Amino acid sequence: QPGSMMDRPLLVSAILEHGENQYGDQQIVSRDTDGSLHRYRFADLARRARQLANALQVLGLRPGSTVGSLAWNNHRHLEAYYAVSGSGMVMHTCNPRLHPEQLAYIVNHAEDEVVLFDTTFAPLVRAIAASCPRVRHWVALCDADTLGSIDLQGVSGVEAYETLVARQDDRFVWPECDEKTGAALCYTSGTTGNPKGVLYSHRALVLSALSACMPGVLSISAQETILPVVPMFHINAWCLPYAALIGGAKLVLPGPRLDAASLYELMETERVTVSAGVPTIWMGLIQHVEQHQLRFTTMRRTGVGGSAMPKALIAKFSNQFGVEVRHGWGMTETTAIATMSTLSAADAELPPEDRHALVAKQGKSVFGIELKLVDENGASLPRDGASQGELMVRGQWIVDRYHKAERSALVDGWFPTGDIATISTQGVVQIRDRTKDVIKSGGEWISSIDLENAAVAHPAVAMAAVIGVKHPKWDERPLLFIVRKPGQSLDKTQILDFLAERVAKWWLPDEVLFVESLPLGGTGKVQKNELRQRHGSVFSD
Ligand code: ADP
Repeated sequence: QPGSMMDRPLLVSAILEHGENQYGDQQIVSRDTDGSLHRYRFADLARRARQLANALQVLGLRPGSTVGSLAWNNHRHLEAYYAVSGSGMVMHTCNPRLHPEQLAYIVNHAEDEVVLFDTTFAPLVRAIAASCPRVRHWVALCDADTLGSIDLQGVSGVEAYETLVARQDDRFVWPECDEKTGAALCYTSGTTGNPKGVLYSHRALVLSALSACMPGVLSISAQETILPVVPMFHINAWCLPYAALIGGAKLVLPGPRLDAASLYELMETERVTVSAGVPTIWMGLIQHVEQHQLRFTTMRRTGVGGSAMPKALIAKFSNQFGVEVRHGWGMTETTAIATMSTLSAADAELPPEDRHALVAKQGKSVFGIELKLVDENGASLPRDGASQGELMVRGQWIVDRYHKAERSALVDGWFPTGDIATISTQGVVQIRDRTKDVIKSGGEWISSIDLENAAVAHPAVAMAAVIGVKHPKWDERPLLFIVRKPGQSLDKTQILDFLAERVAKWWLPDEVLFVESLPLGGTGKVQKNELRQRHGSVFSD
């Protein structure tokens, strides 16, 4: 028989109302595109979101319409998050680092009618506007004065956000839509072929954000000040903009300044306790802090994911700076965090080395997410910590089909992640590689992630990347790229000797290339495709 409980939908607008009603005075600090800091409260956010909702209606948008954004993590973007989804429309966050052709592709594919953009991205708007005929309004996230000073030649339908919002009533009743309605849309980066869209439902966003607040995940409550470095154009900044309002945490948005010095300064001046982002951000930050002999006064922990966090860095954060790394795994298709490495009371007693090694794995699935491994024929593999196979995921906030795709993306009800992993008897996942990055040498697999982690443990290494390169005898062999820390010397023999003590001999890279920098994608991940294109034939030339 049915339970006798109310059936209330899980909606993004309910998060905003909760934030306003329970924590109306809580602060939001946002770095504007011009570098200045803007401050207001949850109650102001809610008021401006209602004004924006009215403005969107005046622009002719209706529930089901799609609004694009090309924007940093800032307060106007946040207002759009709530106003657009709250109105029953779809918030389509676009990654500004996509190639303009791909950007135009996703704007058209999503059928964006309005695109909100930070003035930084005016050149992009000029580049794509002519190829996006459905976009009726290009709304610059600034006031009329600033807009006047920006070159938007050839773009029609340009408006200033502040002008639009200022004219509007601050009363608006959020529609009570079905929780399965699409609320936000994010495309994968499309390293192969066109990007694919994932249309998140209200239900998926709310559940995922609730999960992020859990003590075993990121512990987001009114005791915390959270600074999401992960961009709001990338998987909803891992749902942290929602989680902050659910938990009542002060929210600090870094805008365009993602360099280590600016982030550090913001963390200190705003007394940030929790942050979240990809490993490359933390590598830069640690270097800055070490170089200038600084300390973190308030930072307690940071969520890291998007690519593997090396053990050496986890150890440094913990031993030298007292910052706990929580290492998670997820992808565009999983809304946000799917696994998280959290230490149990018993784990916390382990010697530091073992503790850090555990955190360097990707942790256990959070409640709501199920995982399994399969072999090439789709047969399930044991959870024994040794059997490697493709990671399959299923759960409340996992994609079923890509946006507008005819067929489901699932295999027997599970989403194939394209990641190769092991799972221990206790459910701890270790991502070994992406299927497209794993190196197949003489019929055996070499994990590029393991090699990179071993290399960055060397004190002179700032960053490392490993790709598989075609080899006449072995099929593929590893090629290692190293970015040295400033002022450090390191040669090929030294790094190979260092690695020889840490990995199997046949894993040792055949060549080491010392480079000034590595190509990073819009989300701070090393673009291995680009490295393969440039260097993919060094062993067969
Ligand atoms: P893309 O990297 O293709 O732009 P996503 O952000 O959706 O898109 O990336 C998801 C992928 O990132 C995962 O499939 C996995 O390969 C990798 N990834 C995410 N978190 C981790 C992690 N903690 N360790 C290793 N790999 C990770």
